[in-house]
Amino acid sequence: MKGEVMHKPDEFQLLKKMSEVFGPSTVEDAVIDIITSELGPEYRTIVTGHKNLIKWKPQPGFRRTVVFQAHMDELGMRPYRYLHNGYIELTPTGGIPGNVTNHQITFQPTGVNGVLVVRNDGGKHPRFYADIGAADADEALQMVPRHSNGAYARIPLEESQSQLKGKSFDDRAGCSAIVHAMKTWKVASDTRMIGVFTAREETGNWPVTELYRSMIDNDLAPDLIVNVECCPAEETAAGEDGFATVGRGIVLVHMDASYEPDPELCRFMANIAQDEGITSQHMAVRAGSGELGRLALGFGVAGYPLTIPCRYMHQPHSVISKIDYQACIRMIHEITRAFENYQPFAAS
Ligand SMILES: [Zn+2]
Repeated sequence: MKGEVMHKPDEFQLLKKMSEVFGPSTVEDAVIDIITSELGPEYRTIVTGHKNLIKWKPQPGFRRTVVFQAHMDELGMRPYRYLHNGYIELTPTGGIPGNVTNHQITFQPTGVNGVLVVRNDGGKHPRFYADIGAADADEALQMVPRHSNGAYARIPLEESQSQLKGKSFDDRAGCSAIVHAMKTWKVASDTRMIGVFTAREETGNWPVTELYRSMIDNDLAPDLIVNVECCPAEETAAGEDGFATVGRGIVLVHMDASYEPDPELCRFMANIAQDEGITSQHMAVRAGSGELGRLALGFGVAGYPLTIPCRYMHQPHSVISKIDYQACIRMIHEITRAFENYQPFAAS
């Protein structure tokens, strides 16, 4: 089918579920559960020691394998020290911006909520605190034990005709687009689609090595890896600063800070978008990247990043466009369809 995808209410429902659950680095469990129940028993599952999730459907006679990968974790915070006045100083696990003061934060496993307080006292790094309503350190320790994880509190996803506003679209939108594409993929093809949902991306301590060991051991080695992420979009000054633009389509990323895809592969992606009428924009990202470089170089296969433009990335509230999200799902399908005929540079 040419043109944009017809609106299917289900595709945003899955993103709603995924964006609203708690899951900073090391506690991606709720996201794993949603993906597993969404895909159902037809799909095989591996969860590695550090919670990478691998999902595939047995497909006899496949010739090639494309891995679509997104990270499940969101930004988080851990207790650092308990102050005499009841505040908890926090250590961020990921790039929490220095201007998010007075947002709600939630801690698991106790479910205690607090006010996130950020102080920029002229030092190099902002300092992060939680005010959880404790009168002193002992009370704070009881309410939020030392082993707790914190994250921005749940924000219900809201939908307008054209956009979605909610939490942690980075990278639950990537996860959800892949799951939706896997569920709706009906074409008989020699290419097998594997979904890989990674852990701990925001901390930078990506368990990538155990992921590729586990995939190779289980005969799941890819021929191509496509990273599905969010990228920062223009905010108030559209088009002036070279950022991607919300509503102008899936971003075909011809390089990022960790990886530069093969130019033939860039052309393959651009041709797919053009031939199938998928709304897209092009970008060579200067700063920022995910696990793609380490994955592609670790497996020794070509990789490519697709990104969904996202306003206010790493802030509690973020905005993406439905068109961009739907274009991402279509790209996942069309890449899987077209990859049968793609001749990579290193093909033997
Ligand atoms: Zn991300």
